[in-house]
Amino acid sequence: MVPKERIEKIVEGYDKDKITVATVCSHTSLQIFDGARKEGFKTLGITVGQNIKFYDAFPKGKPDEFLKVDSYLDLLDMADELAARNVILVPHGSFVEYMTPKKFEELEVPTFGNRRVLEWESNRHMERQWLVSAGAEMPNIIEDPKMIDRPVLVKYDGAKGGRGFFIAKDYPDFKLGIDSSQRFTIQEYVLGTRYYIHFFYSPVRTEGYKLKKGVLELLSMDRRDESNVDEMYKLGAQEELKKLGLFPSFVVTGNIPVVVRESLLPKLLDLGEKVVERSIELFGGMIGPFCLESIVTDDLRIKVFEISSRIVAGTNPFISGSPYSDLLELDVSTGRRIAQEIKFAKDNDVLPEVLS
Ligand code: ATP
Repeated sequence: MVPKERIEKIVEGYDKDKITVATVCSHTSLQIFDGARKEGFKTLGITVGQNIKFYDAFPKGKPDEFLKVDSYLDLLDMADELAARNVILVPHGSFVEYMTPKKFEELEVPTFGNRRVLEWESNRHMERQWLVSAGAEMPNIIEDPKMIDRPVLVKYDGAKGGRGFFIAKDYPDFKLGIDSSQRFTIQEYVLGTRYYIHFFYSPVRTEGYKLKKGVLELLSMDRRDESNVDEMYKLGAQEELKKLGLFPSFVVTGNIPVVVRESLLPKLLDLGEKVVERSIELFGGMIGPFCLESIVTDDLRIKVFEISSRIVAGTNPFISGSPYSDLLELDVSTGRRIAQEIKFAKDNDVLPEVLS
């Protein structure tokens, strides 16, 4: 991990009127660039052999400049060049996954948020320790595959958009599907509606839903379209499908906006608050956007199965705001909210508080 003092030193040398917001061209980059531009920042899109022509179709989401590299790992040797451009990196799921969390921690470039969250998030045991000790209810874990006595979901480590996950109802089912070369976790399969809740924690603002330090905002929610599980019901009973060689998979292909019944809102805010407060105790706090990935059961319990501690692709339906963010300020995407936070911190001379 790059020491905080090193990042502070780099930021000290920045021309604060020429900050460039940079990210990898993928995932949520359109709203990150659009939001940064709306807040008056220059923008830089990092690409590795991608087809960038699609940005021409969305001019407001196109970065001012592209930086082409052969591999994301090349960024590790480009710290000086990026610092000379006064760059602040905005992490997103693909950015961290392409570089790997370990290498991302080593980047000597000021990055929005607290990178110490990465080890807590990318290790499913630490993630669980964090969330459960914060008071969140999580799906049960089955330690021994031989003890599978109900539907479970077998998950591999790392954010892969559900790729490779499979449902098993007993040990033979598990053996049929497992790739034992990868680290895996077996979770009880929770029946309910899946909601992905998008929060934003600001350690530097003081107005709004107050935490011990800073404020928490609920910006939006989505649910995912997952291929092929979300469409499989059309083909009938699962056992029959298996006989035909059709197995459910969980590959995210799109996102759908959601609002929840209003009585769930206080519970969600309370949950978000506890998770942030615990993160402050454990590793100095998770800063900026994060998503609690949850399943709401029919008795209205919220079970959290994962946290993503940065901007998630589920915020993409809300480029010009959501029913929730509209009640904070109109026309604010999560990408724009990140840029606002950088601007607020810059104007109040507290940039190091939102960077690592
Ligand atoms: P990402 O990091 O991109 O969110 P991931 O690869 O870490 O994805 P998860 O988000 O943990 O995967 O799970 C993928 C999908 O599997 C979820 O979107 C959800 O549909 C389903 N899922 C996960 N956990 C459970 C569970 N315990 N019970 C039922 N369904 C689940």
